[in-house]
Amino acid sequence: LAGKNRIRFFEPKMQAEVDLRHHVQSKLRQAIASGGLKLWYQPKVCAASGNTVGCEALVRWCSDEGQFIPPSEFIPIAEQTGLINQLGNVVFQLAAQQASRWHAEGINPSIAVNVSAHQMRNPRFVEHLMLMLEQAGAKAEWFELEITEHAMMDDTEYAASMIDKLSSVGFRVAIDDFGTGFSSLSYLKDFRIQTLKIDLSFVHDMIRSPQSNAVVRSIISLGRGLGLTVVAEGVETMEQASLLSEAGCTLMQGYYFAKPMPPEEYAKWLRATSS
Ligand code: C2E
Ligand code: CA
Ligand code: CA
Ligand code: CA
Repeated sequence: LAGKNRIRFFEPKMQAEVDLRHHVQSKLRQAIASGGLKLWYQPKVCAASGNTVGCEALVRWCSDEGQFIPPSEFIPIAEQTGLINQLGNVVFQLAAQQASRWHAEGINPSIAVNVSAHQMRNPRFVEHLMLMLEQAGAKAEWFELEITEHAMMDDTEYAASMIDKLSSVGFRVAIDDFGTGFSSLSYLKDFRIQTLKIDLSFVHDMIRSPQSNAVVRSIISLGRGLGLTVVAEGVETMEQASLLSEAGCTLMQGYYFAKPMPPEEYAKWLRATSS
């Protein structure tokens, strides 16, 4: 009788999900500690000149079994378990070391790094970044930090003060996935940011949806009106690229230009595309 009406908290499928999450979590912890994470770099191209002006660093995890695990699968788990702080440190260290090497080789070391809301919540975040810069011999001016619109909306006052600190030490700050947070636009002028990144969902729908097209155009004119750099991400076709340049978008990023690639390949790509 006891068993009959008992609520089953875990359906078998849910249990499998919990197991998988634990598995990923412990493997990720190992990868973070043992150099299993790498950064790949995707070019950002100037809409007016076609020149590459920098790149975005994207974390890559190849498991011991040689299996590639996409960030969409492990970043959320890292965020739920707090591992994101260690992961974020490793990512920034790798980016700082790479920037330092590129600088020494005469390569423009302009790198955008993704930052999670959790990292920002640490009151000593800026100090940690400065320490990692110093250790790598890198400069804050070489970096733009991409913070999602969602992360900023958690606590706008705190976010604004954190962004103030970041910019006063020389970092540029971008709002990532812009347009997905349904935030009030009035706060934009209160943040010391330099860049808006239009979420790729709008870029993808722009051609067939007049609504997405309008959103993209509005973000571009809003951004330009505020003196900001506007970046479109996820540009996959020539049609999208020309619509975006016509609308006045500053920079573009996406498979149409290049996929994220290992650092040596990015350096080659830079040499091949700059005349
Ligand atoms: P995101 O910051 O919005 O990065 C853009 C994503 O779009 C990347 O996916 C990139 O590879 C992909 N992408 C670039 N061009 C195209 C395109 O033309 N078409 C399509 N369909 N996709 C394109 P990725 O590398 O899988 O990363 C996914 C997300 O994981 C990122 O979204 C970011 O939120 C997170 N992430 C990646 N690296 C890091 C990191 O180092 N730290 C943190 N906190 N998050 C990261
Ligand atoms: Ca990003
Ligand atoms: Ca984005
Ligand atoms: Ca995104």
